[in-house]
Order: sequence, then C-alpha cells, then structure tokens
Amino acid sequence: MLRSVYDLLPSPSNLHRWGLQDHLKCQLCDKTGSMEHILSSCTTSLTQDRYRWRHDSVLQELADKLERERTKNRTRQKPRMIQFVKEGQKAPKQSQPTNSVLDESDKWEMSADLKQKLVFPNIIQTTFRPDIVIWSDKDKCLVMVELTVPWESRCEEAYERKKAKYSDMQERCKQKGWRVWLFPVEVGARGFPAQSLWKMFNALGINGADRKRAVGTLSLAAERASSWLWMKREERSWKPTTNSKWLTTTAGPPPGECPGIKGPKHLLIGEYQLKKLVVRAVHTVLLSLTARETGDIWEGPYDNQE
Ligand SMILES: [Zn+2]
Repeated sequence: MLRSVYDLLPSPSNLHRWGLQDHLKCQLCDKTGSMEHILSSCTTSLTQDRYRWRHDSVLQELADKLERERTKNRTRQKPRMIQFVKEGQKAPKQSQPTNSVLDESDKWEMSADLKQKLVFPNIIQTTFRPDIVIWSDKDKCLVMVELTVPWESRCEEAYERKKAKYSDMQERCKQKGWRVWLFPVEVGARGFPAQSLWKMFNALGINGADRKRAVGTLSLAAERASSWLWMKREERSWKPTTNSKWLTTTAGPPPGECPGIKGPKHLLIGEYQLKKLVVRAVHTVLLSLTARETGDIWEGPYDNQE
C-alpha cells in the first residue's frame, strides 16, 4: 500500500503540479524532477555514482547470501547407473536428482565485483566483469550473476539487455568445455523483486522460506538505498556512506519510545511510522488542494484509511 503511493511524494514535478513550488527542476541537473528521474534517470546522479552505490548495497546482500550457499558442505553426486530389476521385484529407491546448480561440484570459488574489482576466472580473456561469478576449476562449472536495480517498469528490458551482453562470453566458455549458467537478475529501485531473482535463487538451491527471506533482504536494501537517494536529492555533493546497513546500525532506539520493542525491529517500525506520516501529510495536501479546486468545504486532514 505504501509503495504504491510513492508517486505522491513531494518530487519537484509534483510540488509544481500542486502549486506549492514554482520550479519543477531536478536540483542536480535541471531536468524535470519526477520521482522516476530522481531515482533512476538523472545523469548527474549517475556520474556521481549514486546509483552505483545503491546497486552495490543490494549486491552486497546478494553476495553475502550466495557466499553462505557456496560454502555449504556438498558431496558431489556420482553419475547414476541404470539399474536392472528382476521381474516381480521392486526397484530400489533412488536419490532425487540434483536440483541445485551448486550440487554439480563440491569445490566452488566465488568473486563479487564489490570492494575489490572482480577478476574473471582463467577460462577466457575478457574485459567484462559480471557482478558475481561462482566457479569450479575442478568440474569446469561457471555461474554468472548480473544484478540490475532499474526503475520497476524497465526490469524486463534490463534482463534482456544483460542476457544479450553476456551471451557471447557464455558461448566462448562453453567452447572451452565449461558448463555455464547465466543469471541476469533485477530488483526494482523501489524494492520490487523481478521473477528472475526468485528463479535464480531456486536454481542455486535456495527455496521456501529461506528464499523468501533472501528476496526480502534484497528488496529492503534497494528500498532503503532509494529512500536515502531521495532524501539527498537536493544535496549537490555526494558522499556515500560506507556502511550499507546505515538504517539499522547507526542509532539505537531512543529511550522511552515504542515500549516493548527493542533493537533493529524498532527502527523498522520507526521507518514505517515515518512513511505513514508522509503518506498522511501528502493526502492531506492533496485533499485540501482538491477541496480548494472544487469549492468543497475542507473538513480536516486525511485520516487512516488502511
Ligand atoms: Zn537530475
């Protein structure tokens, strides 16, 4: 419900439309400052690496999750023999076929394009750096994960673009006798995960509640980073925080508030309450403006309609 009202936030273009501000420019580049512009299309934000910072905040969470998955103990399944069964006898139960790509080897290495630049494994020469590579020299298996954090309506386009970008590389690795899995995945800038993300986790053996949690963590990372970009939309200089968990670790709960709730959960609730206040304030402004236009009697602020 809250996310759906994002476009009611006081972006320069909305403030202008509501008659509250005489300019509708983005404070960084002079283009029209819509929500979409500020969170995903501003060239100044792009060159200042604001979007890169958001991308890396999400990538960090993804890399943490996949690293835990990579280091799990695995016993490689031996190729299965065809079993002949005598007439009248029951076939012995067979182990389930592998359903995680990571079961294809018991020795994986991983590299993510974060603090240290990713160096592509020694299979082919390339200047491309996917966001995450997981590979096994022993079993000649390569998994490439490429993350994009686009505006929600451009997730599919991003998927196709990244898939095309790496398909040649994929082919060249295959020619060297490697098995290759390529996963372009998207988390929308406002925190909506694309299907590709769910599918990738599934292919790598992350299922059920575990998968739900992982997707939730990535969504939250995107949403928080976007909130931060939004708050900083009028600050022309950009000094990204090095702590990607800024919302949960920079402050403890203030004393005396939210009795009975302690720790990070408190801050999440704080954030939620803040959003509620913003939504309420925006609705109030909108209703008062509508009332002014239609000549209705203004009866006070919008109230909780959840
Ligand atoms: Zn701009």
